[in-house]
Amino acid sequence: MFRNFKVVPQIIFGKGSFAQLDDILSNRRKHQKSFMVFLIDHAFENTNFKSRVPLKKDDMLIWINTDTEPKTYYIDRLVEEIKKHKNILPDGIIGIGGGATMDISKAVSLMLTNPGSSADYQGWDLIKNSAVYHVGIPTLSGTGAEASRTAILTGPEKKLGINSDYTVFDQIVLDPELTEGAPADQRFYTGMDCYIHCVEALTGTYLNTFSKAYGEKAMELCQNVFLNNAKNAADELMIASYFGGMSIAYSQVGVCHALSYGLSFGLGIRHGIGNCIAFDYLEEFYPEGVAEFRKMQEIAKIELPRGITKNIDNNILAKMITVALGLEPLWENALGKDWKKIMPKERIKELYLKM
Ligand code: NAD
Ligand code: ZN
Repeated sequence: MFRNFKVVPQIIFGKGSFAQLDDILSNRRKHQKSFMVFLIDHAFENTNFKSRVPLKKDDMLIWINTDTEPKTYYIDRLVEEIKKHKNILPDGIIGIGGGATMDISKAVSLMLTNPGSSADYQGWDLIKNSAVYHVGIPTLSGTGAEASRTAILTGPEKKLGINSDYTVFDQIVLDPELTEGAPADQRFYTGMDCYIHCVEALTGTYLNTFSKAYGEKAMELCQNVFLNNAKNAADELMIASYFGGMSIAYSQVGVCHALSYGLSFGLGIRHGIGNCIAFDYLEEFYPEGVAEFRKMQEIAKIELPRGITKNIDNNILAKMITVALGLEPLWENALGKDWKKIMPKERIKELYLKM
């Protein structure tokens, strides 16, 4: 079976394109009493960014806490708050921030029209009703969350996305200027998420021409940014992120992402840095990618945390192994149909204990 996947229908790209947001939204404002909800990463709270947001009288602006990865209870709380605002559904949800805010915005727009808790929808194609119109405006480049059909959430039992065609943004605004104030280490971790997406897609067994074309271009852009000090680095990394997202949309990620999900669930280590920590130990699976990653790390002068599993509780370690092993398509993509023989629990445990 070939996957018939949905892509973002409207994209605007370029430095300064954020200024067109007001125009874009004005077409979506239904009547005088309706409102838009801006979910903005709290990194912008004490800056003058608010003055650039096209807020109208009844609109809501909610600063989004991204100190940890998005949790299902946080989504449920935001949905309640928005529902109470005017007792009508908003005309749109506009998410402005990194991958976490992208995912929160997608999830909130879905949960405004689907009953129950967001935890009920972690999985594949469980969403029944289409979402409220939603717009994604990334302020970090790398996750590909702007392109993907998933909103990754940590719930009481699992870290798993709400995967559905309804999850996909209706509009994205790719304005590289918005990424320019990001701290250098965060820019590196999120950028490496993209680089690792490319390595895992391009070496995977699910690879096909569609995924290869996007993946190769995204990788070239990452190399330009992180090895060759590209002049237009913010533009290039933003397009790399989108292309990387398109590449994995039609293939899959691999060993590094599976281990990183476990690190996040068990130890609360965030996606970008978790990928970097895990990838450094995956030379046997991705020799060229890991060698190049280390060069990029050296140029960016990034020191990765070590010894994170030194005194780890055995129950937590077991949970991490279960989470990692549960991501079957990732292992199959990386290691082929016989992946279970190649990757028994003990081998994952060994890898985790090295970190
Ligand atoms: P993030 O959204 O977690 O943000 C990291 C930090 O950067 C936060 O402290 C935030 O406040 C800050 N920040 C964001 N933009 C900034 C800016 N312009 N200036 C200063 N600070 C800024 O980071 P991320 O790496 O973009 O996203 C990681 C998240 O994305 C994880 O939750 C992960 O699960 C998710 N993800 C989703 C997908 C998907 O397809 N849906 C894919 C990969 C990752
Ligand atoms: Zn990733």
